[in-house]
Amino acid sequence: MNPHWKVWIPLWAALSHGFAAEPPADEWTRARQQMVKTQLEARGVRNAAVLAAMRKVPRHELVPASEREWAYGDSPLPISEGQTISQPYIVAYMTEQLDIRRGERVLEIGTGSGYQAAVLAELGAEVFTIEIVAPLAERAKADLARLGYRSVHVRAGDGYRGWPEQAPFDAVIVTAAPETIPQPLVDQLRVGGRMIVPVGDAYQELVMIRKTKHGIKKERLIPVRFVPMTGEVEKHD
Ligand code: SAH
Repeated sequence: MNPHWKVWIPLWAALSHGFAAEPPADEWTRARQQMVKTQLEARGVRNAAVLAAMRKVPRHELVPASEREWAYGDSPLPISEGQTISQPYIVAYMTEQLDIRRGERVLEIGTGSGYQAAVLAELGAEVFTIEIVAPLAERAKADLARLGYRSVHVRAGDGYRGWPEQAPFDAVIVTAAPETIPQPLVDQLRVGGRMIVPVGDAYQELVMIRKTKHGIKKERLIPVRFVPMTGEVEKHD
């Protein structure tokens, strides 16, 4: 007897899962849920909206094809042009610290892959994001449009001077590390606004800035490792 099923069952399995090593959509969802549980909740991220956004944004759609299978791992990943997408925990931590409300206007410096911007958009923010490496800005713009993130506005350029036409902002997030905090970004915060920025060189710390009626309050948070902020800021270091 000719055991046809021995041929057809594996062929059916290959066809229904695709020939490439691409997990089906629900496996990506499962990987994201696992990431949220083991990397975020386990380390104390509690904000329900942030956790929901991190369960939703398809990180694997924003990293290069060669990095896809590691998209939900506990580490930063190379994007291209020598840049990196931050570790999921750091994205969640910074987003939680900013305490974003629906409808708020957020400025991001360092678009990179567009992942952080997408997380902010899921929280209901209008996001203005600037990327100094033009091909990265173009790539992120196309990827975010493809994924339907219409409330993210991407601009190629040096973010040092912010986006004055769209200021003031409720929040500013800097995802490349300057050695000194760019004053124009602080100026573009509204009273009540929050800014988070990794500051330093070999040793960096996240710094939280709150603008109050009485002035600026600065708080040092955790040690981090970001790529350096380049461009005009280097003249001020
Ligand atoms: N937030 C990104 C990761 C950023 S990596 C994400 O979610 O993927 C840091 C990015 O900041 C890099 O892409 C780098 O090119 C960019 N960058 C560095 N200096 C900058 C500047 N002065 N203005 C705008 N972007 C800058």
